[in-house]
Amino acid sequence: MDTKNLSGKVAVITGAASGIGRATALAMASRGADIAICDIDEPGLKETAESIEKIGRRVTSARVDVAVQDDLRAFADQVDASFGRVDIVVNNAGIGVGGLFVDVPLDEWDRIVGINLKGVAYGCHVFVPRMIAAGNGGHVVNIASMAGFCQAPGMTAYCATKFGVVGLSESLRIELAEHRIGVTAICPGVINTAIVRTGRNYGPLATDERREQGARAFERRNYGPERVAEGILKAIAKNRGLAPVSPEAWTGYWAKRLFPWLVGLVGRMGMRSLR
Ligand code: NAD
Repeated sequence: MDTKNLSGKVAVITGAASGIGRATALAMASRGADIAICDIDEPGLKETAESIEKIGRRVTSARVDVAVQDDLRAFADQVDASFGRVDIVVNNAGIGVGGLFVDVPLDEWDRIVGINLKGVAYGCHVFVPRMIAAGNGGHVVNIASMAGFCQAPGMTAYCATKFGVVGLSESLRIELAEHRIGVTAICPGVINTAIVRTGRNYGPLATDERREQGARAFERRNYGPERVAEGILKAIAKNRGLAPVSPEAWTGYWAKRLFPWLVGLVGRMGMRSLR
């Protein structure tokens, strides 16, 4: 799909009240798309919607918890009623959970799998059949992470969901090719967004000091969500199956393929700081 000019196209973005989702909604609106956005954060969603209107594009928005199937079904109906078509779906909504495996309660596993993995599956399930029926082709973008191909101690639950998103996306890509619908798993590295402050942590990681350290590291890295949005547009244009975004994500991608032992070694070194 030509992403330089998206006029006449409709893009759906989940988790668009903040960070990568908001930046992607604005980038797609700037290129001419009409936008459907959802999130659980209603004030943030309103801000994103106002920014889209300022760009001069049409927008529809809804409070949606992506872990709730009925919320997403109702949202898909709303998008149909507002625009009558869907060309791009970005399943972006996600949360972070930090902590050693033994410290993270199973309820937290249910929560993160519900949002980060099932939320992506539900998003695909409600929109893809409509895209197939419309016969216009299109693109599904699922936001994974470099933690979708590199293991990371202290992030077992998060890694499990993001490896899952990569597997879902790569398999779905084959199934949808005959409908001219591309599927991309986007794998960002360390992106300076709210997620580092809003994620829940457990065990030795659950201190204010650790949270501050993490947040400062993300700020120092200073790689903004707008750059991920550009990466998403490029990946759609080139119909990439898996797209690392940021130098650290590309390094992890090649290291995992060429020197998998090295990724394990870095993980073991990281483990020391988690005890
Ligand atoms: P963010 O916290 O700025 O944005 C996430 C958005 O998702 C928020 O607006 C939040 O309200 C929304 N959300 C959370 N739970 C939801 C739910 N149940 N239903 C609907 N919306 C929900 O964080 P971000 O960094 O922009 O994260 C976006 C995606 O990028 C996530 O999937 C995240 O895992 C992924 N990612 C982030 C990074 C990073 O370093 N920031 C790296 C790799 C991948």
